[in-house]
Order: sequence, then C-alpha cells, then structure tokens
Amino acid sequence: MYRAFLIKYAEIGLKGKNRSYFEDCLCKQIRNNLRSLGEYVVTKEQGRIFVECPEDYDYEDTVEALGKVFGIASFSPVVIIDTIEWEQVCRAVGDYVDKFFPVRDFTFKVECKRGNKEYFMTSPEVCVEMGAYLLDRFPELKVDVHHPDHYITVEIRNRAYVYCQAIAGPGGMPVGSNGKAMLLLSGGIDSPVAGYMVSKRGVYMDAVYFHAPPYTSERAKQKVIDLARIISAYTGPIHLHIVNFTEIQMYIYETCPHEELTIIMRRYMMRIAERIAKDNNCLALVTGESIGQVASQTMQSLAATNAVCTLPVFRPLIGFDKQEIVEVSEKIGSYETSILPYEDCCTIFVAKHPVTKPDIKVIERSERLLADKIHEMVETALQTKEKLRIASYED
Ligand code: ATP
Ligand code: MG
Repeated sequence: MYRAFLIKYAEIGLKGKNRSYFEDCLCKQIRNNLRSLGEYVVTKEQGRIFVECPEDYDYEDTVEALGKVFGIASFSPVVIIDTIEWEQVCRAVGDYVDKFFPVRDFTFKVECKRGNKEYFMTSPEVCVEMGAYLLDRFPELKVDVHHPDHYITVEIRNRAYVYCQAIAGPGGMPVGSNGKAMLLLSGGIDSPVAGYMVSKRGVYMDAVYFHAPPYTSERAKQKVIDLARIISAYTGPIHLHIVNFTEIQMYIYETCPHEELTIIMRRYMMRIAERIAKDNNCLALVTGESIGQVASQTMQSLAATNAVCTLPVFRPLIGFDKQEIVEVSEKIGSYETSILPYEDCCTIFVAKHPVTKPDIKVIERSERLLADKIHEMVETALQTKEKLRIASYED
C-alpha cells in the first residue's frame, strides 16, 4: 500500500540559518542506511523529507533502517496520490481509509498541510470537506476534533499525500553534523552504549580497542568487531583501531605495585587513544565509565585517568545505574553480544585489592619506574595497530 515515507525531525527545525546543513546531513544518513536495501529516492521539500521506495522494497527492513537514523523524530508510511484534483484526492483518501481500517468503529480528525499555497481551498476547508466526504462514505465513523482515535493527515503539494501513522525514530541530531570522537570500545555492556549516546548528538564515531593476545583471544576481538558493527547501524561507518597492549600491560605488571595496575593501565590506554584520536581529527574521547561502578571508576580514579588527557573526555553514562545502561543496550541491540563470556584485557591482570582512592602524585611516581622502556613500547603499539573499517549499512 505504501510507496513512500515522510520523515519528521524535531530539533533540526530549531537551527535557524544552519537548518539546510542539518537537513543535508540527515538526507545523507538516510541514504546511507537505505543504500544496501535498494534504489530509494530521498528528497527534501519545505521542511519535510520524503523517502520514495523502489517497487520491490521490503517494508520491515526499511522501517528498521530508518529507525536507526539519528535526527529522525518520527516517520510515517504515506500513500502518494499522483494528483491534486480534489475529487480524485477524496476518492484516494477514502480508499486508503477503507484499506487501512478494516474495522471502522473509531473517531477521527482530518488534518491538512498545504505546501501548495495556490490550491483552491485553504487547509481548514480541506479538513472540513474531507471530513464530510469520509463521513458520507463511511457512516459508521465519527468525528472528534479534540481527542480523536486517529488523525488522518492530508498534505497537498505538487501531489497529495495521506497518512495516519507515526513510527518513533531515535531522535537526536544527524550524524556528521557535529564532528568526530574516538570511542574506547571494550567488549562490555557500557562502551557501545556510550558510543551510541554521543553519536546520537550528531557525532561520527571512530573506536579503539586494546587487546592483549594471548591473554585475550581472537574471539574477544571478534566480539568487539561485532559490537562496532551493531552500533555502526546508528553511527555510520566506524574505523576501529586495534592496539596490541600485551607488552605494555606486562611491563606495568612487572614494574608497578599491583594495586595500582588498573589505574596505570587505564592511563596508558587514554594516552594512546588520545594520540590516535588526534591523528584522526577526533575532537574528544568517549568512554563507558559511570561513577562508582568499579574501583577504576571512583571519583579519585576518574580524576587520575582524566589527568593524562588534553582532549575532552565524554562519559555519557556517568550518572547511569547499570540497569539503565542495560536497558539502552537492549534497545539498540548490543546487549546479547556484550554478555557473551569472553575475557577482557582489564580483568586478566586485576589485583585483589585495587586502590580505590588513587593519589595522582603516587601514581606518577610509580609510572616513573616505567621510564626506561615505556616510550618505545607506546610507539611500537601505535605503529603496529590494525585498522578496520566497519559498516553495518552501506557497501
Ligand atoms: P564496559 O562494559 O564498556 O567494558 P566496564 O564496566 O567493564 O565497561 P572498565 O573495564 O573499567 O569498565 O572500562 C571502563 C571504560 O574504559 C570502558 O567503558 C571503555 O570505554 C574503556 N575500556 C576498557 N577496556 C577497554 C579495552 N580493552 N579497549 C578499549 N577500551 C576499553
Ligand atoms: Mg570492560
């Protein structure tokens, strides 16, 4: 029945002179998500974006792909009426009601949007006339202008459109409208959600994963790649940098007090992530940290980790409880993959009693013990990193 979708966006509408730029970003992201599904035509006209579908398109796949484009507040499957000749429009709207509502014991209200200001009727006139036509054709219907069960919306432009359904989009800002950030992506529940949330504000995401073979397996790495693919349906293609962290981790393990291991390791992760971020035009780092979740995320630990970065570090989950994070991960489809039981490089070397209130001065003193080799090890890690391009849609 439907050949097209009408896209509605919320916040972009508020952007004044930059609006066109945001709309273009949104159109681009819609095209990216639909490209692999067929030849869709995405056009913008007068504060609206229309997606016209190919003949043989799959409705469910299209709805799923559009549901992952940030910047979409809601989208409506619409019937396109290839004329604005009034009697034909009435008949087509009536046919639509006939097909869409096999059971017609509801109240309705007609709404009209008129992009075509030359049309011979005003919007209120269209509503009244269309309401009258529908009541005449379907006497079992009732009008309720205050609390209708259904709104039947008719838009008159170069052609006419009718729809009565709005499917929720993910909201936010279109990706690409707000620069790029580097996500520290582990195999856990939190970091994919953190990447999703920052990307939702229009930010392109690249990612870095620290792996420690043979202590962490190829399967652990594959899990991170799978998570990157899941969130890339929202963020767009992700360049995933895979850093071999084994040597650095072993060196810290052999050289520094064990209770400081996690903090020192995390400080090196942040330093390396920041180097990669700067080399790739990222303006911030993103982590899945949340206050108090583990020893390395107390206020003191976060301060100690933060101290080595000059880029801003975004921690969108900072005030979230685990359950709240789990809810988002279930919604975006990363949860099932995140809970697969593969080891993580942080858990292998954890001390029995890690410091929970690290003193930065003490940590710095311990790090000085690494002076001999750490610089070269960091350079080696950067030079030997692997880079993968991961895209869920597109290609
Ligand atoms: P997650 O569920 O995201 O793994 P977590 O609760 O296990 O988080 P930590 O292990 O303390 O917490 O890690 C905190 C954050 O540090 C993660 O959310 C992630 O951003 C980053 N991080 C941890 N381990 C790695 C890793 N191996 N590679 C890249 N980033 C990592
Ligand atoms: Mg983790």
